[in-house]
Amino acid sequence: MGRGLVVVGVAVTVAVTACAVAAVVVGKRVKSRRKWRRVVGVLAELEQGCETTVGRLKQVVDAMAVEMHAGLASEGGSKLKMLLTFVDTLPNGSEKGIYYALDLGGTNFRVLRVQLGGQRSILEPDVERRPIPQHLMTSTSEDLFDFIASLLKEFVEKEGDVSDTTLMRRRELGFTFSFPVKQTSVSTGILIKWTKGFGIEDTVGREVSECLEQAMARIGLNVRVAALVNDTVGTLALGHYHDPDTIAAVIIGTGTNACYLERTDAIIKCQGLLTTSGGMVVNMEWGNFWSSHLPRTSYDIELDADSPNPNDQGFEKMISGMYLGDIVRRVILRMSHEADIFGDALPKLSMPFILRTPLMAEMHEDDSPELTKVARILKDTLEIPDVPLKVRKLVVKVCDVVTRRAARLAAAGIVGILKKIGRDGSGGITGGRSRSDIKMKRTVVAIEGGLYTSYTMFREYLHEAMKEILGEEAAQHVTLMVTEDGSGVGAALLAATHSSDPVDNVQLL
Ligand code: ADP
Ligand code: MG
Repeated sequence: MGRGLVVVGVAVTVAVTACAVAAVVVGKRVKSRRKWRRVVGVLAELEQGCETTVGRLKQVVDAMAVEMHAGLASEGGSKLKMLLTFVDTLPNGSEKGIYYALDLGGTNFRVLRVQLGGQRSILEPDVERRPIPQHLMTSTSEDLFDFIASLLKEFVEKEGDVSDTTLMRRRELGFTFSFPVKQTSVSTGILIKWTKGFGIEDTVGREVSECLEQAMARIGLNVRVAALVNDTVGTLALGHYHDPDTIAAVIIGTGTNACYLERTDAIIKCQGLLTTSGGMVVNMEWGNFWSSHLPRTSYDIELDADSPNPNDQGFEKMISGMYLGDIVRRVILRMSHEADIFGDALPKLSMPFILRTPLMAEMHEDDSPELTKVARILKDTLEIPDVPLKVRKLVVKVCDVVTRRAARLAAAGIVGILKKIGRDGSGGITGGRSRSDIKMKRTVVAIEGGLYTSYTMFREYLHEAMKEILGEEAAQHVTLMVTEDGSGVGAALLAATHSSDPVDNVQLL
């Protein structure tokens, strides 16, 4: 009897323990299911916030066209500055001679020598690249331009035995200066402000080409600045050189911007503007575009508030390579706060800009079944080890949502330009006619920048959205043409078209 009780007692204890273990397991499962649901909720909210239906994209197209009008109507009339460039002639392929280019404003400073042979032939340019020494970026105007001029002099002196009529003329140069400039002629302009880590107070408000020409004069170098250009304008020039149907250029790299060829009579803020061609290239500075139709999330709002330029460059912050990785990081951070699916103590995940866009692209495009690249990047860059496969899949999905929105908005921006100049197949502002009555002109948009050229998914989403917005038929008439190195070769081409002394006019001695 006593023994029997003990046995029953043991059995009851085992049963109670088993129940308790089961309860813990079930409890854990319920908890983990709840966590997972919360994380999926964050994703669903992101997807909803980033929605870019064709209807919404068309509203963005219209808003872009409207803002372009407003920016052309009056100074300060829109967040789009719509800057005049005074470039009224684009290269057509017949340019001849040797021209130089300086490119300041990208990652490196570059000097180029470009030899143009007419008939759209460009010999492989000579290029020299140098980083700008850090101290010169915040030194004095004279120090910076002396440095640039001395490199140019060194480069020019290595010209070798070029037996060209150009050498009997004064050398000419296209200067790509990718900072905000108020242009006063094709070859002159006043620096509005420095960006990208430069901060030399005494250059602000000064005429940029004059700063360079004075520095050249100090060391006895005789080169004329024939064109002072923005990198988008160089890209348009190079595109037009290769294909005369090119009417706009877009750069989507670290930042984003666009320019296009406008009729001078549409540039209302500058009445009486006369150009021989009747047109002028306008630098939109579209990174600063804004519209209430843009799908904005809490992540965008936080990113903007934390940035050194809040309320500035709103479109750029949703689209360009500088920011996409950081939007993804912010979503992952939110997910980790909502539910600790990434484990705890994640100091790296809180560091702004630690997840660069090329790494985000690598995760997005990881096609291994186990998502091994995603696991490696999470571990190496964000110091989050042992992330389960289903969470890795979630991270890929976040990259997809952020990039898809960016690419589709960029596409809407491009169609906005086409709409403004009546090249979107809709009849433009004249309206009235149905799509089928309109014979669309072939239209080429030159495009460059690392985000577009190196990120396949971004490019594919952009192309897909262009077709969705324009419709298959109209989209067939629009070509996006990759034009690499407009900021170098394009500037030299503009020096040629705006030469004071084109080679063809030079009398052979
Ligand atoms: P910049 O804009 O500085 O003149 P690029 O046009 O070469 O230079 O663009 C570089 C930018 O493009 C990088 O900052 C990065 O954001 C983006 N990028 C470059 N390579 C990739 C890549 N493989 N995937 C995604 N983004 C990339
Ligand atoms: Mg660039």
